[in-house]
Amino acid sequence: MNAVVGILALQGAFRAHELAVKQCGVSTLQVRTPEELDHVDALVMPGGESTTMSHLLTTSELFDPIAKRLSDDMPVFGTCAGMILLAQKVYDARPDQRSFAALDIDVRRNAYGRQVDSFECDLSVMGLAEDFHAVFIRAPRVERVGEGVEVLAQHDGVPVLVRQGRMMAASFHPELTPDVRIHERFLSMVTEV
Ligand code: GLN
Repeated sequence: MNAVVGILALQGAFRAHELAVKQCGVSTLQVRTPEELDHVDALVMPGGESTTMSHLLTTSELFDPIAKRLSDDMPVFGTCAGMILLAQKVYDARPDQRSFAALDIDVRRNAYGRQVDSFECDLSVMGLAEDFHAVFIRAPRVERVGEGVEVLAQHDGVPVLVRQGRMMAASFHPELTPDVRIHERFLSMVTEV
């Protein structure tokens, strides 16, 4: 594949995503400026802190160009904070926090509660023959999914991996385990026509 996958590198766990995409044999480019965004065919939005990322997206002047690319159908994969950035509605957001409202889901930040702030589990993922070991860290909880959104995995009846067109989002961190099957799934969407 000749595509270049951008890794939003303003903050958070972007290096692990970069390694996972490279491990799948696909070129990457860290994106911190609008010029860098122009050179990529798809974008990964990593986990981290969505309030900080929202702020840095504004100061780096990346917010509007990314919103434009999303409306032009650029494939995107958001994990954890990245899922929050893509969501339609964000509950328990900071008042000044922005999201792209590109993916028809509503999420609640840090909604798994103190006791299970961070946890790991094995998930059955649609299309994968074997379970996927998922790491959740202060994860958002998906509270609504729109009609056009396909739920690819659930945990305790709550969607944790979703897809809408060429957008995919996970409330967990597939980049923090050596298993690249979910990245492969996203990369197959990058070349899909
Ligand atoms: N709780 C973080 C937020 O609201 C997300 C956590 C994560 O990305 N691991 O942005």
